[in-house]
Formats: sequence, structure tokens, C-alpha cells
Amino acid sequence: MAIKNDSELYLFDLDLKALEELFASWGEPAYRARQLWHAAYVDLIQDYAEISTFPKELRAKLSESLTFSHLRAIDQLSSDDRETVKTLFALPDDRMIEAVLMHYDVRDTLCISSQSGCAMGCVFCATGQMGFKRNLSSGEIVEQVVVYARVLKAEGKRVTNVVVMGMGEPFHNYEAVMASIDRLNDPQGMSLGARRFTISTVGLVPVIRRFAAEKRQVNLAVSLHAANDTLRASMMPVDRKYPISELMAAVREYTQQTGRRITFEWALIRDVNDREEDAIELAELVRGMLCHVNVIPLNPTRKYAGQATTHERALAFQKVLESRGIPCTIRLRRGIDIQAGCGQLASRAAEKN
Ligand code: SAH
Ligand code: SF4
Repeated sequence: MAIKNDSELYLFDLDLKALEELFASWGEPAYRARQLWHAAYVDLIQDYAEISTFPKELRAKLSESLTFSHLRAIDQLSSDDRETVKTLFALPDDRMIEAVLMHYDVRDTLCISSQSGCAMGCVFCATGQMGFKRNLSSGEIVEQVVVYARVLKAEGKRVTNVVVMGMGEPFHNYEAVMASIDRLNDPQGMSLGARRFTISTVGLVPVIRRFAAEKRQVNLAVSLHAANDTLRASMMPVDRKYPISELMAAVREYTQQTGRRITFEWALIRDVNDREEDAIELAELVRGMLCHVNVIPLNPTRKYAGQATTHERALAFQKVLESRGIPCTIRLRRGIDIQAGCGQLASRAAEKN
């Protein structure tokens, strides 16, 4: 097992300024740091050895002093239709995370993790069932995108969208998530615009307020799943701390302050939250809001008895919302055959151990 000590420097944790400072401390000129930045984020090198313009000594110094990678792919699955590829990565301390690449039409959307495990304990979620392991560093978030960008580059493609909907609660690791997005935004590097990102939160109210105040271009999704506190708290412990009334107040503020549409996520669970009255209650709750609802049939997990809704019920739910003027999209359960649901691959690996 690799030992990670506090002084360890890791390439993807550094922004360009920090990289320039590191090079300066080695007596190397700033342009070398910029060349490395370009090599890492534009050329998408897999190893320092590929930077042929660097003197051998500098490459050796880098290999010795600046860790190139924290992600070790230990399992990978492709769905039967080959449209979803999921990778399980081990981190240097052997914690696990997952990232999923989804090909939708012309889009290549990447779903990345912000933490190993999750502290929020949503009962239907494989990651929640696993508990919290640790926060990812900004570099460990960035590197998930870099790894898939390399795969896509080989096919002449680029990452088009990134959703922070893998393992973990991104607003429980706010600084690292935002730093990673800033790093990926860099026009001299990956140049992935903020609007290409969507963060999904379980509903941490103070952090939603902070995010709204920062007026970022990043899209926001809130996992709602129920429109009353009794039901929501039974599925999502966070509701006891931040009940729906407070959550909605923060979300309204967000839409007013930013002028941006909010997305609500709703996993349709058979006979739990997929009935007509559930849709009506939701429509009442979000009436007049600048919003969009994404419904997705529950991905069943081993430790939760709930079942997925039927396609007919999903259509009926959508119809109720749309007849009340609320846009609603039914998301497909991508990669169901490869356990592409949040945390499912990692929990399967843990069970094997
Ligand atoms: N922690 C964040 C982001 C990661 S979860 C959040 O909760 O929003 C990403 C999305 O997957 C959330 O909307 C979450 O509620 C949903 N999800 C988790 N487990 C699921 C399951 N078994 N079936 C369907 N959706 C699930
Ligand atoms: Fe955490 Fe999101 Fe899963 Fe809830 S749904 S346990 S917040 S990852």
C-alpha cells in the first residue's frame, strides 16, 4: 500500500500558480511549469516520460518529487450496449471511488465522485449504505476527468459534460470540489467551461446559500425525492436537519439571485413516491419556481427493499407535472447491467473482500 504523507505533492492538486512556484523553488523557469500544465491537461500525457522536451534530469526530479497519479483503475465494466463505462478506482490509501462515462447521442457525460463513501446516509443509496470514508482532494476529483479525457481523446472526442453525482456529497467537500472545477476551467488547460458542470446536492442549506452568493455558472441539482418531511426524512436523514421549507427557501433564493434554473432529482420508488398524489404534492411545492424535474426509476440496492417504478407510472408522473407547467424529464437507468448506480460497484467490491 502506498503511504501518503502530508508533505506529498501531487500534480493534479496544484493550480498553475502553485506549479510555477514549485518549479521556481527548484530553480526551473516558469515556462517549464506551463509546459507541464499543457502536457498534463491538453496533451493528456500518461507519464512524465512522455514530455520529450524536458531534460532527463527534470523528468527524474518530477518522478521523484511530484506524484503523477492517485487513481489506480482496479475494475471496469461496460454496459451491454457499450454506452456506459464504469471504472472503480483505488486511491493511494486503498479507499475506493467510482466514475462513469455515458455516451448520450453526441454527448459524452462523465459522472464523478467527490468523496469516498458518504456521510449522508440516504437509505436507498449504495454509497450512503457504505458510510463515509474520506473527502477527495481537489486533484483526485480533477484526475477522474483527466483519465476519461484521455480515453475520449483516443477516439477523437472530448468530455462534453461533467456531473458531480458519483460517490459522496459534493457540498460536504465544497472547497475541493470548487477548486477542481476551477482547475478544469483553465483556458490554458482542460478549458471545460463552468456551464458544462452540474453539482447534485442532498440539500445542505447553508452551502446552497454560499454557492448562490458566489454566482458561479455551474448548474445545480437538488435531490428531493419527497415533497413532505415525513416521507423525505424516512429516506434522507438530512431532512431532519434541513427540512423542506428551509431547503425550498434556499433554492428560491438561489434561482432569484442567479437567474438560473434549478433541477430537482426524484428517484421513483414503487408505491413510495411514484403515485399521482406524490406528483401533485411535488407540483404544489415547486409551483412558480424556475425549475426542472428529473425523474429516474430507482436503481435497486441490496440493503433497501424499495423497488423501481414501472415505465407507465413514470410517464403518468411526468404527465401530472407537465400538465401543471413543470418541465419533467424521465432519465433512463443507464448501465443498469453494470451496477452503474451510485456506489454500487464499490459496495460490490467491498462485499467480495
Ligand atoms: N450526494 C449527492 C450527489 C451524489 S448522488 C446527492 O445526493 O445529490 C447522485 C444522485 O443519485 C442523487 O440524486 C441521488 O439521490 C441519486 N441516487 C442515489 N441512489 C440512487 C438509487 N439507488 N437509485 C436512483 N437514484 C439514486
Ligand atoms: Fe450521499 Fe447522495 Fe448517496 Fe445521499 S444519495 S447517501 S447524499 S451520495
